Amino acid sequence: MDANAKFTEWYAQERKKSGMRVTSKDQTLRGLWKTVDWILRRITFGKQDGFYTRFTTTLGRTVYFPDGWTIDKAQLYDCITLRHEGRHIQQNLAWGAGNIWLGTLLMGIFYLLFPLPIYFAWFRYKLEREAYRVSYYTAIELGLKPNLENYVELLTGPKYFWTWHSKKQVRAWFHKNCRYNT
Ligand SMILES: [Zn+2]
Repeated sequence: MDANAKFTEWYAQERKKSGMRVTSKDQTLRGLWKTVDWILRRITFGKQDGFYTRFTTTLGRTVYFPDGWTIDKAQLYDCITLRHEGRHIQQNLAWGAGNIWLGTLLMGIFYLLFPLPIYFAWFRYKLEREAYRVSYYTAIELGLKPNLENYVELLTGPKYFWTWHSKKQVRAWFHKNCRYNT
């Protein structure tokens, strides 16, 4: 499968659906992403050191791929990320009752802080597990083998600032909600 063709096709779909725009962290708002990267390295004791170079982030309707990324370099896993971030844009829109910036602001506050920023970040857990469920089905659609245990690690570890305290609960949710368990 041609990853780049797939990405272009799905990007057109997402653009139509929600007005998604893709760019990269070095091309747009570089200073902001560098600053967040610096903060994350410190508050996770160096355990999240890939925010700028490996992680993709969505703000409003714009998806910021990692440093140096361009559409012509898109791989199959970028197609999964595209759909995952598309889900976050839908969430932003839902939270703002159609107003993307209101939704981004409200969802952002709840995503980061409620009820606690760490271990019991219920909204971050809920919003990310929905998006990773999309990642799961997208991987299957692309003929890849998704790894539920990787999602469990992400949502309970430093990459997402220790979102949820119980691996057991996260694992149980994914096993229940992802039909083709691996
Ligand atoms: Zn996400």
